[in-house]
Amino acid sequence: MADKLVAVKGMNDIAPPVSAHWEWLEETLRSLMQRYGYRNLRTPIVEPTALFVRGLGEVTDIVEKEMYSFEDRLNGEQLTLRPENTAGVVRAVVEHSLLYDGGKRLYYMGPMFRHERPQRGRYRQFHQFGAEALGFAGPDVDAELITMACDLWSVLGLSGIELEINSLGQPAERQAHRQALIAYLEAHADLLDEDARRRLHSNPLRILDTKNPAMQEMVNAAPRLMDYLGEASLDHFQRLRSLLDAQGIAYRINPRLVRGMDYYNLSVFEFVTTQLGSQGTVCAGGRYDGLIAQIGGKPAPAVGWALGMERILELLKEQARLPGQPQPDAYAVIPEVSAMPVAMGLLRQLRQQGVNVLMHAGGPEGMGSMKSQFKKADASGARFALIFGEQELKQGMVALKPLRGDRAAPGAEEQRLRPLSEATGWASELKAD
Ligand code: ATP
Ligand code: MG
Repeated sequence: MADKLVAVKGMNDIAPPVSAHWEWLEETLRSLMQRYGYRNLRTPIVEPTALFVRGLGEVTDIVEKEMYSFEDRLNGEQLTLRPENTAGVVRAVVEHSLLYDGGKRLYYMGPMFRHERPQRGRYRQFHQFGAEALGFAGPDVDAELITMACDLWSVLGLSGIELEINSLGQPAERQAHRQALIAYLEAHADLLDEDARRRLHSNPLRILDTKNPAMQEMVNAAPRLMDYLGEASLDHFQRLRSLLDAQGIAYRINPRLVRGMDYYNLSVFEFVTTQLGSQGTVCAGGRYDGLIAQIGGKPAPAVGWALGMERILELLKEQARLPGQPQPDAYAVIPEVSAMPVAMGLLRQLRQQGVNVLMHAGGPEGMGSMKSQFKKADASGARFALIFGEQELKQGMVALKPLRGDRAAPGAEEQRLRPLSEATGWASELKAD
């Protein structure tokens, strides 16, 4: 036997029954977007490397060490498997002038790629669902996006997800804070770890985001960006807060919330839970008013968030909120191969009527015993067996046998005959109510 080939480390297959949970989550997300008027945007998984270098910032975890980049073998172009999709959305919006007639509300979902150390809630191929509102400047859209995420937790039945918000102000305000911060960090140079020392002059704000416990106390006492914000930035933040307050949405202001990408300004936020170990951020986002111009478009404000679908599914599992498996309405028991043409024809008609039917398929030697067919019918979870027996077929009939006893309607367990020629008349009997 040849060597077994396995999936790339940190990249997962999603097979039944788990794939049904994914489909359910995707459907739930789509219908929520529908209600808020967000439309789907699909962009390529591969983008020019320059898009992320320019969009995310050179001194970010993603660009420094997490990207899967390669050279196109034909033209030498530098390409990257997308590590996130806000930059791709902005590229597409600019490339196709999607903002020509006003703001756009968009969503996407799909795989992202980051070369990280695989662990619970952290994979090398993972899936994000993201919502982006481009062309809107006001804090009302920030609030809309946050509200939408809160609605998602409630339709999914999730609890224990907390909202943290902060304001990063504008670039000039960050610059003033940055100088004070560097001076402070230099004064505590002995406490800085290697990562922090490297970032001290390139991206000191990110040091505040450190997960190193030895540095927590020091970063807690560092100069706060909030104290350097001007009137307009503070006003934007205040108005966002009032809108959240008016909706009864609880939040905690986290002055150290800075986010991993350079493109953020003003509002930033994260939804976090303590129920997933150290990978507790399930959804994160903020405003990125400078990114569109940075990607070469006409300056326009924008805001958005992305959620990690694996982490949401993990949390759903943790809180026992995953739905049951889809089950067929009926299982077709076909005792003789000769009945197959008639059976297949009828099953197609039933499916056209919206009935979910699983067909028993035989081997080259025949269909297998009735007993083994009924065993499979039972295991399928179907509520009915459709029996294409010789006697029934002779009368132009098929037998419907309920497989799950119905205590509410005694007598309903009995087998009954239905005409093969009038499937549309009785198809609804098979459907779940
Ligand atoms: P973290 O701090 O956990 O590395 P991040 O700030 O890098 O997160 P974002 O780039 O903001 O994450 O991505 C948004 C969401 O995508 C995260 O909140 C998380 O739920 C999910 N996510 C990010 N990286 C991964 C990964 N490697 N595996 C699974 N989910 C991820
Ligand atoms: Mg990360």
